[in-house]
Amino acid sequence: MEIKYSSTRGSGGKVTASQAILKGLAEDGGLFVPDQMPSFTVPLDKLASMTYQETAYEVMKLFLTDFTEDELKACIRGAYDSKFDTDVIAPLVKKQDAFYLELFHGKTIAFKDMALSILPYLMTTAAKKNGVTNEIVILTATSGDTGKAALAGFADVPGTSIIVFYPKDGVSPIQEKQMVTEPGKNTMVVGVNGNFDDCQTGVKKLFNDSDLAKRMADKGYQFSSANSINIGRLVPQIVYYVYAYGQLLKQGEIKSGDKMDVVVPTGNFGNILAAYYAKQIGLPIGTLYCASNENKVLFDFFGSGTYDRKREFILTSSPSMDILISSNLERLIYKIAGNDAEKNAAFMKQLTGDGEYSITDDMRAELDSFIGGFATEEETAKEIADVYKDTGYVIDPHTAVASYVCRDKAKAKKTKTVIASTASPYKFTRSVMMAIDADKYGDMEDFELVDELNKLSGVKIPQAIESIRTAPILHDTVCEIEGMLDVVEKKLGL
Ligand SMILES: *Cc1c(COP(=O)(O)O)cnc(C)c1O
Repeated sequence: MEIKYSSTRGSGGKVTASQAILKGLAEDGGLFVPDQMPSFTVPLDKLASMTYQETAYEVMKLFLTDFTEDELKACIRGAYDSKFDTDVIAPLVKKQDAFYLELFHGKTIAFKDMALSILPYLMTTAAKKNGVTNEIVILTATSGDTGKAALAGFADVPGTSIIVFYPKDGVSPIQEKQMVTEPGKNTMVVGVNGNFDDCQTGVKKLFNDSDLAKRMADKGYQFSSANSINIGRLVPQIVYYVYAYGQLLKQGEIKSGDKMDVVVPTGNFGNILAAYYAKQIGLPIGTLYCASNENKVLFDFFGSGTYDRKREFILTSSPSMDILISSNLERLIYKIAGNDAEKNAAFMKQLTGDGEYSITDDMRAELDSFIGGFATEEETAKEIADVYKDTGYVIDPHTAVASYVCRDKAKAKKTKTVIASTASPYKFTRSVMMAIDADKYGDMEDFELVDELNKLSGVKIPQAIESIRTAPILHDTVCEIEGMLDVVEKKLGL
């Protein structure tokens, strides 16, 4: 079955998977969605004995149907190798009644590595397949973790370059240091005086600037995206939910066919949408808990059917979830509107114009497998401290938001619940250590805290942290929101 992709806003016709990956975003500003949902055909009980790489092939081949077996397997081999500090790639760790699916064992110690390790391979393969000779310029907005993961993935990949925009005062110290020390010759990192939504909106505007596209083409450049709006990010993220199910089987926690619930700490709605796609292809997922921090626009949406971005943007200890415009929700809205691009486009227009939209009752009924939850800053910190006290396991603030929502909403249920653990605590050392003991750790320097976390958790300090201790700062460009176009023009010599 060949799967084609079309825009959630209707124009532009259908493209192949490789073309959708190359383009990133559809020309009308919509997101590419598969024109039909494939079905997973591997018997569930076989999952228990499959490696991560084998699982990845079986899942990704369903969606990326114009890639040959050899091409896809080469991409998977290149991506999921010793860059990860564990052979199993995504360990499922049981603590009390919860299962933490650790998605942070890649190069930059956040779950973005799961997809961004493979995206450069998919992208360069797609370029070859489609006879693209332009240099592909990856344009990315980041709330902190995508940036470094994309830089690490695309650094010095021939035929590509990458520009990353991040909110100057909206990421953790370690996140910023990871990005501005990036040595890749084809990379550029820019701080923006604005928040993540400003960065993301600015990037989308550059994508939709047809004059800019033309001037770029004249010089042999074309844009693509490493954000989770790219289908090439979404598809690899489906894999680890299927893999987690296999691990539950392997650990004897469930029998083949039993349901599994998931709790996902959510920002741009990419990770949880991948879980939803996993459910759509036939993985027995019961409830999808969408966990938000104090920017709880999604919690309100699932409760009321109204998406309202008109509210204060709050900077929290889980900065990768500080988002009020969750891009990937558009793919879900399109789906529950009955794959109706016109209807979806009208909602998105309202969101841009009025700052809100309300879905119909019929559409709300389609959301019955989602439950929204949220954790305040206080609850998040307490969750980190409690989990540590009870089990000795140290979780990062993003994971803690999900862990709190799991206890709060899902505890009473018998279904096995998998918490997507999206970052290593080493990436947010200060917030984590302050949550555990503010008096003891309050006055320490960032890297002192790293050593203290090592003593406390017994978990080896990741290479990603060791390597930035002394690394020189190589990027210091800062711009205003309106200056993003200028930065791109200068960088590309337009
Ligand atoms: C990006 C990110 C999230 C949010 O994921 P979305 O796909 O944007 O919903 C959560 N936690 C961490 C650590 C992240 O880096």
